[in-house]
Formats: sequence, structure tokens, C-alpha cells
Amino acid sequence: GSRLLDVKNLKTWFYTFEGVAKAVNGVSYTLNKGESLGIVGESGCGKSVTASSVMRIVPEPPGKIVGGKIFFHGEDLVQLSQKEMRRIRGNRIAMIFQEPMTSLNPVFTIGNQIAEMFILHRGMSKKDGLDAAVEMLDRVQIPAPEKRVGEYPHQLSGGMRQRAMIAMALACDPELLIADEPTTALDVTVQAQILDLMNRLKDELDTAIQMITHDLGVISEMADRIVVMYAGRVVEEAETVELFQNSLHPYTRGLLHSIPILGSRSRGEQKKLSEIKGIVPSLYGLPVGCAFRERCSRAMKICGEQEPPLYGVSGNHAVRCWLHQDH
Ligand code: SF4
Ligand code: MG
Repeated sequence: GSRLLDVKNLKTWFYTFEGVAKAVNGVSYTLNKGESLGIVGESGCGKSVTASSVMRIVPEPPGKIVGGKIFFHGEDLVQLSQKEMRRIRGNRIAMIFQEPMTSLNPVFTIGNQIAEMFILHRGMSKKDGLDAAVEMLDRVQIPAPEKRVGEYPHQLSGGMRQRAMIAMALACDPELLIADEPTTALDVTVQAQILDLMNRLKDELDTAIQMITHDLGVISEMADRIVVMYAGRVVEEAETVELFQNSLHPYTRGLLHSIPILGSRSRGEQKKLSEIKGIVPSLYGLPVGCAFRERCSRAMKICGEQEPPLYGVSGNHAVRCWLHQDH
């Protein structure tokens, strides 16, 4: 497919009293039209900051994009003013969050908020905007959309609010939808329904999706390709099937082993096969060498001396680990 997004050597740092946190430190990835990409890693790996950078919503200060480029249709978003970003954000690139109330305003009806997207970006009248809002609610399978359109966010269940947020995000038929842990706060059944919905919409609308999650299980059925991040860096990238069958980075293998066992009924009951021992290193003072080495059972001498480069091991598979330098 044709190239939609091309992130090149992105660096987004935070300047705080404790020092400089290099939250995103030289991240590159691409996304083609209609493709779905998973960005996976533990909390603090830089996956959310990467998304905020693409949306240009990094709080500045303390954050700042200090390097790199974010090409969207060949136009570098890093160079755009906030005014110019407003014609792209919500319109051509939309985002949904773990907590729907991040994007839904409690004092306006669901209908008015969705209609606002059509009024703002499509120049519709209020009445046409509201009709289009009913259609969107129907599209995300909210029952009785004519009634729901007049309700406030607090009148909806958590799962319905998530659907309403998706409806708002997709209102203007964006080319790229960024989803940041969209199902993490939901129970397992509702989580599966929302993922089904997103999968269906992706096929219907041909929207490219960048899905951010700490849970590889969540994106296994959704993503065409997966990027694994650790301590602000990409440590492995591969097509989804390849990553699941032939993961190479010790960190990715650890993540795969910590996917909840299928069939567990609720979040509380979810059992994990194993957790990756140890904690993510502080972004304020990353160690010399491989950032994963304190937690890695395969660490060698060189791992403490030099950071490994990202090795291309086959077609679309790349890994940042000294174990694979001979590929
Ligand atoms: Fe482990 Fe070394 Fe590979 Fe890092 S480079 S993941 S420490 S083997
Ligand atoms: Mg996050």
C-alpha cells in the first residue's frame, strides 16, 4: 500500500527538575494506508508519547520534540504550527484514549459533540450534523441511536462511552486512527466487543490504525505489524504472525510469556504465565549499553558496553539485540 505515515528518528524529551527524560529517543516506523500497526511495551516505554508527538499534543513545556520528522502524506507534522495542526487533528488523524472522558465533554450531549465534528470540519449545519451523529452512533452499534444522541456521557455505560468516543473519532473519516489502550479499562467481554468493532470499522472505512497497548494479546488479532518499544527505543519490529512465531528479542519473548491465559473470565482472575522480572530503567539516566540488560537472562559482556543497533534479520523483521548481529 502507499505510505501514510513515516516517523523518522523521533526524539521527544521532557525537561524536568529531575533532569532530562528521553521518553522517545530515536524512534522510526512507518504506516501504510489502511494498515494496522501495534505499538507494544510496558508503561513508560514511550509508546503514548510517540502517539502524542504524532498528534502534536505533547505538553510543551516540559515536553519537546527535539529531533526527527513525522511525515504524514509527505508533510512533516513537526514543522506545522498548532493552527495548521487543527485542520489535521480530529479530521485526518483522530485519537481515542483509555478513558473516554479524556475526549468526551461531560456538559454536552453525545450528539452535540459528534455533530460539532461535522460542523467544524465539514461545514454542516447543526441539523445535518445531528443527523450524521445518529448515523455514527448506529455505525458503532449503539442501540436506539435517536434516543442516545440526546444523552450526556454520564448516562452511558463504560462500553457505550467507548463506542461514542470511537464514533466521534471516526466522524470525519480520518485516514489514521491512533488508539491508546482503548480497551484497558473495560472488562474482558466488553473489551472483546470493542476490538471486534474496531476491526470491522477498519475494514469498512479503510482507516489505518496505530494501536498502543501493553498487552500483546489485545492486538494479536488486530495488527498487521507490531513494533515493540523499550525505554524510548524500538527493540523489535515484525509482521504479527512472524513476531508471535519467531520473536527474537528477549524482551518480546518475555512479553509473549506474560499474555494472560485464554479463557480467564475477568481481569481479576487473569493469570499470567510469567512476568518479566525487574523494572524499566529510569529514563533520566539510561545505562550504557543495552537498556534491557539488567532484566535479561542472556546478557553478555558487550551488552554492558555498547547499545546494539537495530539489525534487519529478514524482510520486515528487525531486532535490537547483540544476539542477532550475525543474521
Ligand atoms: Fe539481552 Fe544483550 Fe540482547 Fe540486550 S543486547 S537483550 S542484554 S542479549
Ligand atoms: Mg500510556
